[in-house]
Amino acid sequence: MRKLIVANWKMNPGSIKEAEAIFNGLSIEAKEAKNMDIVICPPFPFLSISSKIKIKNVIKGAQNIFYETIGAYTGQVSPKMISSLGAKYVILGHSESRLFGDTNEIINKKILASIKSKISPILCIGENIRDTHGEYLSFIKNQIHECLISVSKTQIKNIVIAYEPIWAIGDKALRYATVDEFIEIRIFIKRTIADIYGIKVANEINIIYGGSVHKENARTFVIDGEAGGLLVGRDSLIPKKFGAILAAIK
Ligand code: PEP
Repeated sequence: MRKLIVANWKMNPGSIKEAEAIFNGLSIEAKEAKNMDIVICPPFPFLSISSKIKIKNVIKGAQNIFYETIGAYTGQVSPKMISSLGAKYVILGHSESRLFGDTNEIINKKILASIKSKISPILCIGENIRDTHGEYLSFIKNQIHECLISVSKTQIKNIVIAYEPIWAIGDKALRYATVDEFIEIRIFIKRTIADIYGIKVANEINIIYGGSVHKENARTFVIDGEAGGLLVGRDSLIPKKFGAILAAIK
């Protein structure tokens, strides 16, 4: 399976000019990584950017959407709208969006709406803390079950699951996750998916890792941890750093 590397720009950068420069920079880096799919997820206003350098494996994605298609929903953006700007993916359930109100129930509606508009959801799951009693496992299991309600066996094939332990995300991360911690959860996610959809679907689902990925740890998650790809935050805003991640796993 081709590795999927997702660039989550969050609410950055501050202007369209800067956004174009980063987009071009990432596209240049992606040239050297033809065996991977690079999904660049800028904020909504920059989604219409297209790079001067046309690279086939560079795909656009959004960082969230609303679940309705059109109408009186002030401030919201629909899957159909992002699709018309060329987006093929959408990050859903990111811990930062959950902080501002996205519940499993809402994320579930967004997943169903995205699939309907032929946008592939990148469903983020992950615990706040690792307790010693394994409560984080039931927390993750619950996230998967609730976010996937009514998602059919055919539809699940369009979904990528990103394991993002909240404690390992961003510059305030408590610590970095180890590859063994990722492997434990990757197997646990597969088991949970197998319980719902059967073993074949579980074996095919793409599980990627996100949380303080940089050039020094990217390879271990992808090679040793068998991650199907990576979700990169901070280092996706600096083309050289992003390129170093791609080079590390090539
Ligand atoms: C993220 O927020 O999805 C993320 C992975 O961020 P960072 O790489 O900065 O930890």
